Amino acid sequence: MESDVMWLGLIALGGGLAAALIGLAYLLLRLREAEQRVRDREADHQGVLDRLQENEYRLRTIIESEPECVKLQAADGTVLEINPAGLRLVDAERAEDIIGRKIYEVVAPEYKAIYRENMRRVFAGEAAVYEFKSITLRGRTRWMETHAVPLRDARGEVYALLGITRDITEHKWAEEQGRRHQTELARVARLSTMGEMATGLAHELNQPLAAIANFARGCIRRLRSGDMAPADMIEPLEEVCEQAERAGEIMRHVRDFVRKSEPRMTAVDINQVVRGVVKFTEHEARQHETIVTLQLAPQQPRVWADSIMVEQVICNLVRNAMEAMAERHSLRREIVIRTVPHGEDTVEIEVVDTGPGIDETVIDQVFDQFFTTKTEGVGMGLSISRSIVESHGGSIRAESRTGGATFRFTLQAIPASLRKDERRYSFHS
Ligand code: ADP
Repeated sequence: MESDVMWLGLIALGGGLAAALIGLAYLLLRLREAEQRVRDREADHQGVLDRLQENEYRLRTIIESEPECVKLQAADGTVLEINPAGLRLVDAERAEDIIGRKIYEVVAPEYKAIYRENMRRVFAGEAAVYEFKSITLRGRTRWMETHAVPLRDARGEVYALLGITRDITEHKWAEEQGRRHQTELARVARLSTMGEMATGLAHELNQPLAAIANFARGCIRRLRSGDMAPADMIEPLEEVCEQAERAGEIMRHVRDFVRKSEPRMTAVDINQVVRGVVKFTEHEARQHETIVTLQLAPQQPRVWADSIMVEQVICNLVRNAMEAMAERHSLRREIVIRTVPHGEDTVEIEVVDTGPGIDETVIDQVFDQFFTTKTEGVGMGLSISRSIVESHGGSIRAESRTGGATFRFTLQAIPASLRKDERRYSFHS
Protein backbone atom coordinates (compact mmCIF):
# COMPACT_ATOMS: atom_id res chain seq x y z
CA MET A 1 0.00 0.00 0.00
CA GLU A 2 2.73 2.35 1.02
CA SER A 3 4.70 1.53 -2.17
CA ASP A 4 1.56 2.33 -4.25
CA VAL A 5 1.34 5.77 -2.73
CA MET A 6 5.05 6.34 -3.39
CA TRP A 7 4.62 5.32 -7.05
CA LEU A 8 1.66 7.58 -7.47
CA GLY A 9 3.66 10.43 -5.92
CA LEU A 10 6.57 9.82 -8.25
CA ILE A 11 4.30 9.73 -11.31
CA ALA A 12 2.69 13.06 -10.27
CA LEU A 13 6.10 14.61 -9.72
CA GLY A 14 7.28 13.40 -13.17
CA GLY A 15 4.13 14.90 -14.79
CA GLY A 16 4.70 18.25 -13.00
CA LEU A 17 8.32 18.29 -14.08
CA ALA A 18 7.43 17.54 -17.67
CA ALA A 19 4.85 20.37 -17.69
CA ALA A 20 7.42 22.75 -16.18
CA LEU A 21 9.97 21.75 -18.80
CA ILE A 22 7.50 22.29 -21.64
CA GLY A 23 6.62 25.72 -20.17
CA LEU A 24 10.31 26.56 -19.91
CA ALA A 25 10.96 25.50 -23.49
CA TYR A 26 8.04 27.65 -24.65
CA LEU A 27 9.38 30.61 -22.75
CA LEU A 28 12.84 30.07 -24.21
CA LEU A 29 11.35 30.01 -27.68
CA ARG A 30 9.50 33.30 -27.10
CA LEU A 31 12.66 34.78 -25.68
CA ARG A 32 14.63 33.83 -28.79
CA GLU A 33 11.90 35.28 -30.97
CA ALA A 34 11.95 38.50 -28.99
CA GLU A 35 15.76 38.59 -29.20
CA GLN A 36 15.55 38.08 -32.93
CA ARG A 37 13.04 40.93 -33.23
CA VAL A 38 15.31 43.21 -31.19
CA ARG A 39 18.26 42.20 -33.38
CA ASP A 40 16.19 42.88 -36.52
CA ARG A 41 15.10 46.25 -35.18
CA GLU A 42 18.67 47.10 -34.19
CA ALA A 43 19.78 46.18 -37.68
CA ASP A 44 17.06 48.46 -39.09
CA HIS A 45 18.14 51.26 -36.73
CA GLN A 46 21.74 50.75 -37.63
CA GLY A 47 20.75 51.02 -41.32
CA VAL A 48 18.92 54.30 -40.64
CA LEU A 49 21.84 55.54 -38.53
CA ASP A 50 24.31 54.61 -41.25
CA ARG A 51 22.22 56.43 -43.85
CA LEU A 52 21.91 59.48 -41.56
CA GLN A 53 25.64 59.47 -40.92
CA GLU A 54 26.30 59.16 -44.61
CA ASN A 55 23.99 62.11 -45.31
CA GLU A 56 25.56 64.17 -42.54
CA TYR A 57 29.02 63.34 -43.81
CA ARG A 58 28.01 64.34 -47.34
CA LEU A 59 26.45 67.61 -46.06
CA ARG A 60 29.49 68.36 -43.93
CA THR A 61 31.82 67.79 -46.88
CA ILE A 62 29.75 70.15 -49.01
CA ILE A 63 29.57 72.82 -46.27
CA GLU A 64 33.24 72.50 -45.35
CA SER A 65 34.40 72.83 -48.93
CA GLU A 66 32.00 75.76 -49.53
CA PRO A 67 34.05 78.90 -50.30
CA GLU A 68 31.50 81.18 -48.56
CA CYS A 69 31.03 81.28 -44.80
CA VAL A 70 28.18 78.99 -43.70
CA LYS A 71 27.10 79.19 -40.08
CA LEU A 72 24.33 78.23 -37.70
CA GLN A 73 23.35 80.57 -34.90
CA ALA A 74 21.00 80.32 -31.92
CA ALA A 75 18.42 83.01 -31.16
CA ASP A 76 20.73 84.76 -28.67
CA GLY A 77 23.47 84.98 -31.31
CA THR A 78 25.54 82.00 -30.10
CA VAL A 79 27.47 80.47 -32.99
CA LEU A 80 26.55 76.77 -33.12
CA GLU A 81 28.43 75.71 -36.25
CA ILE A 82 30.70 77.43 -38.72
CA ASN A 83 32.67 76.10 -41.68
CA PRO A 84 36.41 76.72 -42.36
CA ALA A 85 35.61 79.60 -44.75
CA GLY A 86 33.67 81.20 -41.88
CA LEU A 87 36.63 80.78 -39.53
CA ARG A 88 38.86 82.54 -42.06
CA LEU A 89 36.30 85.33 -42.47
CA VAL A 90 36.37 86.22 -38.77
CA ASP A 91 40.12 85.53 -38.42
CA ALA A 92 39.57 82.57 -36.06
CA GLU A 93 42.39 80.05 -35.86
CA ARG A 94 40.36 77.23 -34.34
CA ALA A 95 36.64 76.45 -34.26
CA GLU A 96 36.60 77.05 -30.45
CA ASP A 97 37.63 80.68 -31.05
CA ILE A 98 34.12 81.41 -32.32
CA ILE A 99 31.83 78.37 -31.77
CA GLY A 100 29.91 78.80 -28.52
CA ARG A 101 30.59 82.54 -28.51
CA LYS A 102 28.20 85.31 -29.51
CA ILE A 103 28.34 86.50 -33.10
CA TYR A 104 28.05 90.09 -31.77
CA GLU A 105 31.70 89.83 -30.71
CA VAL A 106 32.60 90.27 -34.38
CA VAL A 107 29.89 92.83 -35.28
CA ALA A 108 30.89 96.53 -35.16
CA PRO A 109 29.09 98.30 -32.24
CA GLU A 110 27.05 100.63 -34.47
CA TYR A 111 25.74 97.62 -36.43
CA LYS A 112 24.65 95.49 -33.49
CA ALA A 113 21.11 96.95 -33.49
CA ILE A 114 20.65 96.25 -37.20
CA TYR A 115 22.07 92.76 -36.76
CA ARG A 116 19.75 92.04 -33.81
CA GLU A 117 16.75 93.29 -35.75
CA ASN A 118 17.54 90.90 -38.62
CA MET A 119 18.08 87.98 -36.21
CA ARG A 120 14.65 88.75 -34.73
CA ARG A 121 13.09 88.67 -38.22
CA VAL A 122 14.68 85.32 -39.04
CA PHE A 123 13.58 83.75 -35.74
CA ALA A 124 10.09 85.09 -36.48
CA GLY A 125 10.22 82.96 -39.63
CA GLU A 126 11.36 85.38 -42.35
CA ALA A 127 14.36 85.17 -44.65
CA ALA A 128 16.63 88.23 -44.50
CA VAL A 129 19.53 89.79 -46.39
CA TYR A 130 21.59 92.34 -44.50
CA GLU A 131 24.89 94.16 -44.66
CA PHE A 132 26.98 95.02 -41.64
CA LYS A 133 30.42 96.13 -40.61
CA SER A 134 32.46 93.47 -38.87
CA ILE A 135 35.48 93.79 -36.60
CA THR A 136 37.25 90.43 -36.88
CA LEU A 137 38.91 88.62 -33.97
CA ARG A 138 42.20 90.18 -35.10
CA GLY A 139 40.60 93.65 -35.18
CA ARG A 140 40.33 94.04 -38.96
CA THR A 141 37.32 96.02 -40.23
CA ARG A 142 35.46 94.29 -43.04
CA TRP A 143 32.06 94.70 -44.71
CA MET A 144 29.87 91.59 -44.80
CA GLU A 145 26.63 90.58 -46.45
CA THR A 146 24.55 87.76 -44.97
CA HIS A 147 21.70 85.81 -46.53
CA ALA A 148 19.87 84.21 -43.61
CA VAL A 149 17.00 81.72 -43.42
CA PRO A 150 15.26 80.09 -40.45
CA LEU A 151 15.85 76.38 -39.71
CA ARG A 152 12.83 74.58 -38.27
CA ASP A 153 12.52 71.41 -36.18
CA ALA A 154 9.98 68.61 -36.73
CA ARG A 155 7.31 70.67 -34.93
CA GLY A 156 7.93 73.56 -37.29
CA GLU A 157 9.59 75.76 -34.67
CA VAL A 158 12.62 77.83 -35.64
CA TYR A 159 15.62 76.56 -33.70
CA ALA A 160 18.51 78.15 -35.58
CA LEU A 161 19.52 80.68 -38.19
CA LEU A 162 21.36 79.38 -41.22
CA GLY A 163 23.47 82.17 -42.64
CA ILE A 164 25.67 82.43 -45.67
CA THR A 165 28.01 85.37 -45.33
CA ARG A 166 30.48 86.87 -47.75
CA ASP A 167 33.04 89.62 -47.56
CA ILE A 168 31.88 92.60 -49.64
CA THR A 169 34.59 95.04 -48.56
CA GLU A 170 36.09 95.46 -52.04
CA HIS A 171 32.66 95.90 -53.56
CA LYS A 172 31.76 98.52 -50.92
CA TRP A 173 34.96 100.36 -51.53
CA ALA A 174 34.32 100.50 -55.28
CA GLU A 175 30.75 101.65 -54.63
CA GLU A 176 32.00 104.37 -52.29
CA GLN A 177 34.55 105.53 -54.86
CA GLY A 178 31.80 105.65 -57.51
CA ARG A 179 29.54 107.66 -55.25
CA ARG A 180 32.31 110.10 -54.35
CA HIS A 181 32.94 110.55 -58.02
CA GLN A 182 29.22 111.21 -58.64
CA THR A 183 29.04 113.73 -55.79
CA GLU A 184 32.13 115.45 -57.09
CA LEU A 185 30.64 115.55 -60.58
CA ALA A 186 27.40 116.99 -59.24
CA ARG A 187 29.34 119.61 -57.27
CA VAL A 188 31.41 120.59 -60.30
CA ALA A 189 28.27 120.69 -62.45
CA ARG A 190 26.52 122.94 -59.92
CA LEU A 191 29.52 125.20 -59.62
CA SER A 192 29.92 125.48 -63.36
CA THR A 193 26.20 126.21 -63.82
CA MET A 194 26.43 128.90 -61.16
CA GLY A 195 29.67 130.14 -62.68
CA GLU A 196 28.10 130.32 -66.13
CA MET A 197 25.08 132.08 -64.77
CA ALA A 198 27.20 134.61 -62.91
CA THR A 199 29.32 135.28 -66.04
CA GLY A 200 26.21 135.66 -68.20
CA LEU A 201 24.60 137.90 -65.60
CA ALA A 202 27.67 140.11 -65.37
CA HIS A 203 27.81 140.39 -69.14
CA GLU A 204 24.11 141.21 -69.50
CA LEU A 205 24.08 143.69 -66.64
CA ASN A 206 27.22 145.36 -67.87
CA GLN A 207 25.50 146.99 -70.83
CA PRO A 208 22.63 148.79 -69.05
CA LEU A 209 24.91 149.73 -66.15
CA ALA A 210 27.51 151.22 -68.55
CA ALA A 211 24.75 153.08 -70.40
CA ILE A 212 23.36 154.47 -67.10
CA ALA A 213 26.84 155.62 -66.06
CA ASN A 214 27.38 157.29 -69.50
CA PHE A 215 24.09 159.16 -69.48
CA ALA A 216 24.55 160.26 -65.86
CA ARG A 217 28.14 161.40 -66.52
CA GLY A 218 27.00 163.31 -69.63
CA CYS A 219 24.36 165.10 -67.61
CA ILE A 220 26.83 166.00 -64.85
CA ARG A 221 29.36 167.32 -67.38
CA ARG A 222 26.81 169.49 -69.15
CA LEU A 223 25.30 170.71 -65.85
CA ARG A 224 28.79 171.67 -64.64
CA SER A 225 29.56 173.58 -67.83
CA GLY A 226 26.22 175.36 -67.46
CA ASP A 227 25.01 174.67 -70.99
CA MET A 228 22.12 172.43 -69.98
CA ALA A 229 18.58 173.65 -69.53
CA PRO A 230 16.45 171.55 -67.14
CA ALA A 231 14.28 170.45 -70.07
CA ASP A 232 17.38 169.00 -71.79
CA MET A 233 17.81 166.61 -68.87
CA ILE A 234 14.55 164.81 -69.52
CA GLU A 235 15.76 162.74 -72.45
CA PRO A 236 18.98 161.40 -70.85
CA LEU A 237 17.19 160.76 -67.55
CA GLU A 238 14.51 158.81 -69.43
CA GLU A 239 17.33 156.74 -70.93
CA VAL A 240 18.72 156.14 -67.43
CA CYS A 241 15.29 154.93 -66.27
CA GLU A 242 14.92 152.68 -69.30
CA GLN A 243 18.34 151.09 -68.79
CA ALA A 244 17.69 150.63 -65.06
CA GLU A 245 14.40 148.90 -65.93
CA ARG A 246 16.26 146.67 -68.36
CA ALA A 247 18.69 145.71 -65.60
CA GLY A 248 15.70 145.02 -63.33
CA GLU A 249 14.19 142.82 -66.06
CA ILE A 250 17.38 140.78 -66.29
CA MET A 251 17.42 140.31 -62.53
CA ARG A 252 13.76 139.21 -62.54
CA HIS A 253 14.53 136.69 -65.23
CA VAL A 254 17.39 135.24 -63.19
CA ARG A 255 15.21 135.11 -60.09
CA ASP A 256 12.49 133.24 -61.97
CA PHE A 257 15.08 130.82 -63.22
CA VAL A 258 16.48 130.15 -59.78
CA ARG A 259 13.14 130.11 -57.99
CA LYS A 260 11.18 126.86 -58.01
CA SER A 261 8.15 126.76 -60.25
CA GLU A 262 4.67 127.27 -58.83
CA PRO A 263 3.26 124.38 -56.79
CA ARG A 264 1.45 121.67 -58.73
CA MET A 265 -1.41 120.69 -56.46
CA THR A 266 -3.07 117.28 -56.74
CA ALA A 267 -4.92 114.81 -54.51
CA VAL A 268 -1.96 113.03 -52.93
CA ASP A 269 -1.75 109.71 -51.09
CA ILE A 270 0.61 110.72 -48.29
CA ASN A 271 1.51 107.10 -47.45
CA GLN A 272 2.74 106.64 -50.99
CA VAL A 273 4.88 109.80 -50.73
CA VAL A 274 6.41 108.50 -47.48
CA ARG A 275 7.19 105.14 -49.11
CA GLY A 276 8.83 106.99 -52.01
CA VAL A 277 11.06 108.98 -49.64
CA VAL A 278 12.12 105.81 -47.83
CA LYS A 279 12.99 104.21 -51.12
CA PHE A 280 15.28 106.94 -52.34
CA THR A 281 16.89 107.54 -48.95
CA GLU A 282 17.43 103.80 -48.49
CA HIS A 283 21.04 104.01 -49.50
CA GLU A 284 21.77 106.95 -47.17
CA ALA A 285 20.00 105.12 -44.34
CA ARG A 286 22.27 102.14 -44.85
CA GLN A 287 25.29 104.42 -44.96
CA HIS A 288 24.23 106.10 -41.74
CA GLU A 289 23.48 102.69 -40.23
CA THR A 290 19.89 103.69 -39.55
CA ILE A 291 16.76 101.55 -39.38
CA VAL A 292 13.71 103.30 -40.84
CA THR A 293 10.32 101.98 -39.71
CA LEU A 294 6.96 103.03 -41.12
CA GLN A 295 3.73 103.26 -39.15
CA LEU A 296 1.27 104.39 -41.78
CA ALA A 297 -2.40 104.76 -40.98
CA PRO A 298 -4.44 102.68 -43.42
CA GLN A 299 -7.42 104.27 -45.17
CA GLN A 300 -5.89 107.70 -44.93
CA PRO A 301 -7.79 110.53 -46.67
CA ARG A 302 -5.85 112.09 -49.51
CA VAL A 303 -4.25 115.48 -49.01
CA TRP A 304 -4.32 118.45 -51.31
CA ALA A 305 -0.63 119.05 -52.02
CA ASP A 306 2.32 119.30 -54.35
CA SER A 307 3.74 115.80 -53.87
CA ILE A 308 7.29 116.81 -54.87
CA MET A 309 7.35 119.60 -52.30
CA VAL A 310 5.94 117.38 -49.54
CA GLU A 311 8.49 114.76 -50.51
CA GLN A 312 11.18 117.42 -50.07
CA VAL A 313 9.92 118.25 -46.55
CA ILE A 314 9.90 114.59 -45.41
CA CYS A 315 13.28 114.08 -47.05
CA ASN A 316 14.75 117.06 -45.15
CA LEU A 317 13.40 115.73 -41.86
CA VAL A 318 14.69 112.21 -42.50
CA ARG A 319 18.14 113.46 -43.57
CA ASN A 320 18.38 115.78 -40.56
CA ALA A 321 17.49 112.86 -38.27
CA MET A 322 20.14 110.62 -39.86
CA GLU A 323 22.76 113.36 -39.64
CA ALA A 324 21.92 114.18 -36.02
CA MET A 325 22.22 110.49 -35.02
CA ALA A 326 25.44 109.96 -36.97
CA GLU A 327 27.03 113.18 -35.70
CA ARG A 328 26.64 112.14 -32.06
CA HIS A 329 27.51 108.51 -32.88
CA SER A 330 24.19 107.34 -31.41
CA LEU A 331 24.38 103.58 -30.91
CA ARG A 332 20.69 103.08 -31.57
CA ARG A 333 19.81 104.74 -34.85
CA GLU A 334 16.14 104.45 -35.62
CA ILE A 335 13.68 106.65 -37.45
CA VAL A 336 9.95 106.07 -37.28
CA ILE A 337 7.78 107.83 -39.86
CA ARG A 338 4.14 107.93 -38.89
CA THR A 339 1.05 109.19 -40.67
CA VAL A 340 -1.86 109.96 -38.37
CA PRO A 341 -5.27 111.22 -39.52
CA HIS A 342 -6.72 113.95 -37.27
CA GLY A 343 -10.46 114.07 -37.70
CA GLU A 344 -11.86 114.64 -41.16
CA ASP A 345 -9.69 117.41 -42.41
CA THR A 346 -6.10 117.06 -41.23
CA VAL A 347 -3.36 114.50 -41.67
CA GLU A 348 -0.26 114.66 -39.48
CA ILE A 349 3.15 113.32 -40.49
CA GLU A 350 5.68 112.55 -37.76
CA VAL A 351 9.38 111.86 -38.08
CA VAL A 352 10.78 110.52 -34.81
CA ASP A 353 14.46 109.78 -34.24
CA THR A 354 16.66 108.33 -31.52
CA GLY A 355 19.33 111.02 -31.83
CA PRO A 356 20.60 113.58 -29.34
CA GLY A 357 17.42 115.71 -29.48
CA ILE A 358 17.52 119.52 -29.75
CA ASP A 359 18.89 121.80 -27.07
CA GLU A 360 16.00 123.77 -25.54
CA THR A 361 17.97 127.00 -25.88
CA VAL A 362 17.89 126.70 -29.69
CA ILE A 363 14.68 124.76 -30.34
CA ASP A 364 12.85 127.97 -31.26
CA GLN A 365 15.49 128.88 -33.82
CA VAL A 366 15.77 125.67 -35.81
CA PHE A 367 13.26 126.91 -38.41
CA ASP A 368 15.12 130.22 -38.86
CA GLN A 369 16.97 130.83 -42.11
CA PHE A 370 20.67 130.04 -41.88
CA PHE A 371 20.41 128.52 -38.39
CA THR A 372 22.69 125.51 -38.28
CA THR A 373 24.79 123.67 -35.72
CA LYS A 374 26.59 121.59 -38.35
CA THR A 375 30.09 122.45 -39.52
CA GLU A 376 29.01 122.04 -43.13
CA GLY A 377 25.37 123.04 -42.64
CA VAL A 378 23.58 125.80 -44.56
CA GLY A 379 20.61 126.14 -42.23
CA MET A 380 18.00 126.34 -45.00
CA GLY A 381 16.42 122.85 -44.86
CA LEU A 382 13.94 123.48 -42.04
CA SER A 383 13.25 127.04 -43.14
CA ILE A 384 12.30 125.86 -46.64
CA SER A 385 10.30 122.99 -45.12
CA ARG A 386 8.32 125.41 -43.00
CA SER A 387 7.47 127.68 -45.93
CA ILE A 388 6.37 124.65 -47.99
CA VAL A 389 4.14 123.36 -45.17
CA GLU A 390 2.68 126.80 -44.50
CA SER A 391 2.02 127.40 -48.20
CA HIS A 392 -0.04 124.19 -48.03
CA GLY A 393 -2.09 125.57 -45.14
CA GLY A 394 -0.40 123.37 -42.53
CA SER A 395 1.99 123.89 -39.64
CA ILE A 396 5.26 122.30 -38.53
CA ARG A 397 6.84 121.99 -35.12
CA ALA A 398 9.85 120.43 -33.44
CA GLU A 399 9.93 118.65 -30.10
CA SER A 400 12.83 117.31 -28.12
CA ARG A 401 12.62 114.49 -25.61
CA THR A 402 15.22 112.39 -23.80
CA GLY A 403 16.52 110.11 -26.48
CA GLY A 404 15.62 112.00 -29.61
CA ALA A 405 13.76 114.63 -31.59
CA THR A 406 10.30 114.56 -33.16
CA PHE A 407 9.24 116.73 -36.08
CA ARG A 408 5.51 116.92 -36.87
CA PHE A 409 3.71 118.68 -39.67
CA THR A 410 0.12 118.81 -40.82
CA LEU A 411 -1.48 118.90 -44.25
CA GLN A 412 -5.07 119.51 -45.19
CA ALA A 413 -7.06 116.42 -46.11
CA ILE A 414 -9.52 116.62 -48.97
CA PRO A 415 -12.97 117.01 -47.35
CA ALA A 416 -15.16 113.89 -47.50
CA SER A 417 -17.80 115.76 -49.51
CA LEU A 418 -15.28 116.38 -52.29
CA ARG A 419 -13.62 112.95 -52.30
CA LYS A 420 -15.98 111.60 -54.95
CA ASP A 421 -14.74 114.35 -57.23
CA GLU A 422 -11.12 113.73 -56.43
CA ARG A 423 -10.15 113.12 -60.02
CA ARG A 424 -11.82 116.32 -61.15
CA TYR A 425 -10.12 118.00 -58.22
CA SER A 426 -6.62 116.97 -59.33
CA PHE A 427 -5.60 119.65 -61.73
CA HIS A 428 -2.29 121.42 -61.94
CA SER A 429 -2.57 124.98 -60.78
P1 ADP B 1 21.19 122.24 -41.75
O1 ADP B 1 20.85 120.92 -42.27
O2 ADP B 1 22.02 123.00 -42.68
O3 ADP B 1 21.84 122.24 -40.41
P2 ADP B 1 18.36 122.68 -41.18
O4 ADP B 1 17.54 123.90 -41.33
O5 ADP B 1 17.88 121.48 -41.88
O6 ADP B 1 19.81 123.07 -41.65
O7 ADP B 1 18.50 122.33 -39.63
C1 ADP B 1 18.83 123.34 -38.72
C2 ADP B 1 19.36 122.79 -37.43
O8 ADP B 1 18.32 122.15 -36.69
C3 ADP B 1 20.43 121.74 -37.57
O9 ADP B 1 21.70 122.30 -37.80
C4 ADP B 1 20.34 121.03 -36.22
O10 ADP B 1 21.04 121.75 -35.22
C5 ADP B 1 18.87 121.14 -35.88
N1 ADP B 1 18.17 119.87 -36.19
C6 ADP B 1 17.42 119.61 -37.27
N2 ADP B 1 16.91 118.36 -37.22
C7 ADP B 1 17.37 117.79 -36.09
C8 ADP B 1 17.21 116.51 -35.46
N3 ADP B 1 16.46 115.54 -35.99
N4 ADP B 1 17.83 116.29 -34.27
C9 ADP B 1 18.60 117.27 -33.70
N5 ADP B 1 18.78 118.50 -34.24
C10 ADP B 1 18.18 118.78 -35.41
